[in-house]
Amino acid sequence: MKDYLWKRYKEAKKVTKDLVPSIMSNLLNPDAIFSNNEMSLSDVEIYGFDYDYTLVFYSKHLHTLIFNAARDLLINEHRYPAEIRKYEYDPNFAIRGLHYDVHRAMLMKIDAFHYIQLGTVYRGMSVVPDDEVIAMYDGSHVPLEQMSDFYGKSSQGNTMKQFMDIFSLPEMTLLSYVNEYFLKNNIDYEPVHLYKDVKDSIRDVHIKGIMYRAIEADIEKYVCYADQTRAVLAKLADHGKKMFLITNSPSSFVDRGMRFIVGKDWRDLFDVVIVQADKPNFFNDKRRPFRKVNERGVLLWDKIHELQKGQIYKQGNLYEFLKLTGWRGSKVLYFGDHIYSDLADLTLKHGWRTGAIIPELRTEIKIMNTERYIQTMTWLQTLTGLLEHMQVHKDPDSQLILQEWKKERKEMRFGAYLES
Ligand SMILES: [Mg+2]
Repeated sequence: MKDYLWKRYKEAKKVTKDLVPSIMSNLLNPDAIFSNNEMSLSDVEIYGFDYDYTLVFYSKHLHTLIFNAARDLLINEHRYPAEIRKYEYDPNFAIRGLHYDVHRAMLMKIDAFHYIQLGTVYRGMSVVPDDEVIAMYDGSHVPLEQMSDFYGKSSQGNTMKQFMDIFSLPEMTLLSYVNEYFLKNNIDYEPVHLYKDVKDSIRDVHIKGIMYRAIEADIEKYVCYADQTRAVLAKLADHGKKMFLITNSPSSFVDRGMRFIVGKDWRDLFDVVIVQADKPNFFNDKRRPFRKVNERGVLLWDKIHELQKGQIYKQGNLYEFLKLTGWRGSKVLYFGDHIYSDLADLTLKHGWRTGAIIPELRTEIKIMNTERYIQTMTWLQTLTGLLEHMQVHKDPDSQLILQEWKKERKEMRFGAYLES
């Protein structure tokens, strides 16, 4: 039996080796558009867009700018120790989608089934050992009622916040650095206050206009010019499609960016432009009416009976938007980068078609296209199949071999995880 098992193992290994070249010749294209559902673009009459990280992309300098500005606000406005100024932004520290335990001051990855991914839990800048995590959480599962809602807010004082915005990468990194500083220096501090102060500082970088002014002053440094953006929008307009923009950013900032990437006539392409929309509230709150913004950015008080081309509107809400435009259901395709606020709600509540802009996929696909990754994943699947078939052999010799295979699989999974 022992020989039989190892014979099958060797055969499987050979099959995997033979399979890899054919997979390598059929790699995923990182520039492709992936579809989760069948749809015909000829049925789509109206195209909607978010602005930040959908129509406009920012260079690596932007997150450094946000990090530095928020760090300085912590020092100057919230009286944090000036020594934290020594920390510089590390773009490779955090990824989107992580959870933060506000009371325990720990950043971690939690999977779709609410299990903490061991090895990903960080206190400050250091990994928390698995056994400590398991003791703290009584296992590694986090019950649904302890999680925040889709938008990082909690309804019942829950303290697991999820960071879903691309803009939140510097926030997670700053939180971790300041925790690191307090921990390293044995300073007694309240993590709840730290979380709130960092959150407020990051918010102020947006609200007080620090980020907008810096970008507007040096647009070429911060905004990535994309020549295809104009081509795509012009093509849609040529085909008689309606277009709209809904953004949380202010009007002069959007205008400056759109002039740079699309051209000074960008507003001719859009039928409706809504700025400072306050998403996700825009999609859920029925009460706030639209306001017209004039050329000088002044808010007007007249009642809005229609959304006119060439005008800019502020706030408002989706229910009013649907009523005024009649743009309902599957003839609308809306693009955004926020998985929950831009995309999930719109599809689930309003039946719009949605397109997710996920820049992280480019890196993921490049990793998935490496020979090493393909080799590992193919062998992982084959080995799992082998284990499933051979687990019926209960004799001690076979069980020993199966244990060895399981160990190999575990090591491979961890290796694949470390590289991704
Ligand atoms: Mg966005």
